[in-house]
Amino acid sequence: DSEPKREDLQRIMELMDGFKASKALFTASKLCVFDLLHRSPGLDSAQMAQEIKASVKGTECLLEACVSLGLLKSKDRKCQKPVYENTDLAVRFLRSDASYSLHGYIQHCNNTVWPLFSHLESAVLEGSHQHEKAFGKKTNDLFQDTYYNNQEIKLRFMRAMHSIAKVTGKDVATAFDLSTFKTACDLGGCTGAMAYEFTEAHPGLTVTVFDLPAVVEMIEHFRPQHKDNRVSFVAGDFFQDELPKADLYILARILHDWSDEKVHSLLSKIAQTCTPGCGLLLSEIFLDEDRKGPCRGLLQALSMSVGKQRSAAEYTLLLKSHGFITAHVRHTDNLLDAMLCIRV
Ligand code: SAM
Repeated sequence: DSEPKREDLQRIMELMDGFKASKALFTASKLCVFDLLHRSPGLDSAQMAQEIKASVKGTECLLEACVSLGLLKSKDRKCQKPVYENTDLAVRFLRSDASYSLHGYIQHCNNTVWPLFSHLESAVLEGSHQHEKAFGKKTNDLFQDTYYNNQEIKLRFMRAMHSIAKVTGKDVATAFDLSTFKTACDLGGCTGAMAYEFTEAHPGLTVTVFDLPAVVEMIEHFRPQHKDNRVSFVAGDFFQDELPKADLYILARILHDWSDEKVHSLLSKIAQTCTPGCGLLLSEIFLDEDRKGPCRGLLQALSMSVGKQRSAAEYTLLLKSHGFITAHVRHTDNLLDAMLCIRV
């Protein structure tokens, strides 16, 4: 055997350490390190430990790890411990009140995704999700049985969706010329973060956000400062209830949560409500047709949820069977891709 190449070894070590880096980020975020340093830049580890009510030794290790990950900067002082500040990355994405904050999604990863992935081996052996092992209860409908049973978990999930919608929404909303559509309905539109991006990008468009009653009752927590009266909310279940009438239906990060059977039932309902010429805008991570990437989609599929990750061609086929022809597909270079289909 030839000597291993340094970069190959490095690559494997990075993969092996990846979970430690994730957990360091989750922990610093949960302990509000980035918020505290935004308010009081220049704390040292002892001052930070006091603020977050943690050990000095543990806090020092966490702050140093965050520096090595590019999340914090440290400034050395003569004969004294260094002081810490947020890097630009932390200012932009890790403060909980930043416009593009990922704090909500990071908390979701820590509290939900992490426990699920700690049972990955069982998930792979059994080919099913591990909610029962991770959270101690059976789940038929992830949203109604797990996320929305408890106000705190519900708000945390909504904050997670909100944060991703804020960073991806503009790219999805501007992916296509939507000037022929006057009314849209964002099915499973959660906090409305995506809907507000659509009205901002399309001055002639009004958007109805349709989501479960448990979600709609919480929207005051998420209403933007400058209220836009072109966005309204309707509570209902998209499998059971009548859908609001619209020229354009938006399905952002919805279909990957459901089996083909459920997807067919939802698409057939939309198709019945649509008249020819109506649009359907789908936004998901589209797997490459050869299923070799993107990594984010393939790693997400490992959660073995009842849904699945699909390619643009797979979505096109599903939609075609309900009379929707794919007009355009856009890989946005952001976290989500998009597809615009027209009902024939
Ligand atoms: N579309 C949003 C986005 O891209 O940020 C949220 C996506 S989130 C993964 C799925 C959304 O579907 C949640 O807001 C959830 O409440 C909603 N949902 C789940 N089941 C539903 C149902 N039966 N009827 C209506 N909405 C539902």
